[in-house]
Amino acid sequence: MHPEGAARQVFLERFGRPPEGVWAAPARVNLIGEHTDYNDGFVLPLAIDRRVTVAAARRPDDLLRLVSLQRGERALRLGEVRPGGVDGWAAYAAGPLWSLLEEGAEVGGLDLVLASDVPIGSGLSSSAAVECATLLAARDLYGGPGDPARLAQLAQRAENEVVGVPSGIMDQMAAMACRAGHVLLLDCRTLGVEQVPFAPAGAGLVLLVVDTRTAHSLAGSAYAERRRACERVARLLGVPALRDATQADLDAAGDRLGEVALRRARHVVAENARVLAVADRLRQGRPEAIGDALTASHASLRDDYQVSAPELDAAVEAALAAGALGARMTGAGFGGCALALVPAGAAEKVTETVTGTFAGRGFREPEVFGAHPADGAARVA
Ligand code: ADP
Ligand code: MG
Repeated sequence: MHPEGAARQVFLERFGRPPEGVWAAPARVNLIGEHTDYNDGFVLPLAIDRRVTVAAARRPDDLLRLVSLQRGERALRLGEVRPGGVDGWAAYAAGPLWSLLEEGAEVGGLDLVLASDVPIGSGLSSSAAVECATLLAARDLYGGPGDPARLAQLAQRAENEVVGVPSGIMDQMAAMACRAGHVLLLDCRTLGVEQVPFAPAGAGLVLLVVDTRTAHSLAGSAYAERRRACERVARLLGVPALRDATQADLDAAGDRLGEVALRRARHVVAENARVLAVADRLRQGRPEAIGDALTASHASLRDDYQVSAPELDAAVEAALAAGALGARMTGAGFGGCALALVPAGAAEKVTETVTGTFAGRGFREPEVFGAHPADGAARVA
């Protein structure tokens, strides 16, 4: 069943009354702009047509009854929802209520059923989709801010403080602010956004996502190490963040930075430039002209930033060999997803080649699907 129908029906069965409304928030992929967010730089995500759907109704007390069709059932008191007070998936679903309370909204109890077709933990940001769907539900039912950027910050605050994951703002901004037929050019310093037209189908193209269905344990520690390296280079260069550095600055600093730090910084500086170049081509209506930038981004993440994985490299190489215009890992790396921009006529061959390559190398079978730029979070019923 469609997730919206499933959420509504399970709500009715479980709670014996209809929900007051149904809300949905999408997953996302980042077209380009990787590891630029915490350097005050630019990212270019799009919402995709997979989403978390939430059916919800207020309660007269302070109880939260949370049902996830994917994860099971939890019951807790509103007062327990605070940093360190909730564990597991309930922190993602209930955390935004704490953010809303902190914002001064008069939030009370909720019955809530959550249905999702977003792969969990694959780097498509199921986490922000859960946060943003429940946040919108609570906001509409109990009041709170209307501005999407403010709502994204409240969802991020829930993830940072209630869940305890120090993630950037991209995922929540993408879930809240993306529009169908567009990518979202987000300036992570100012939170300024521009909707940039991106309609691959209109140009005879398909954006394929390859979910490698792998995650490598390196991810957490490597992420922290990369962040520290970037901050150190920015300090050495005397700039607020690597967003403010140029390749000429890096060349001039040369030996002072050290070989590894220089590579990390080189990725960030070049990646920011690639995001802006891709946005430019898309503004000109030339999606077919962004392939090289995508592939260059992958090489930079693999060789300079060193956050790729054998599965991601294999997906990119196989896609390019089978006719993709460009391909790259997307997300923080060490597993998760790759994407490939492919002429529609080559989509099947690319899918088969990637799948065959994975089988030949003994990797887990990947899931390959077409992503269509979709709308951000909204009330759907
Ligand atoms: P990603 O955002 O890349 O999918 P994360 O590790 O950031 O991966 O977030 C995944 C977490 O989000 C899950 O472990 C779970 O706690 C929560 N989550 C995602 N989808 C659901 C769902 N359908 N039901 C309950 N919790 C979910
Ligand atoms: Mg996440």
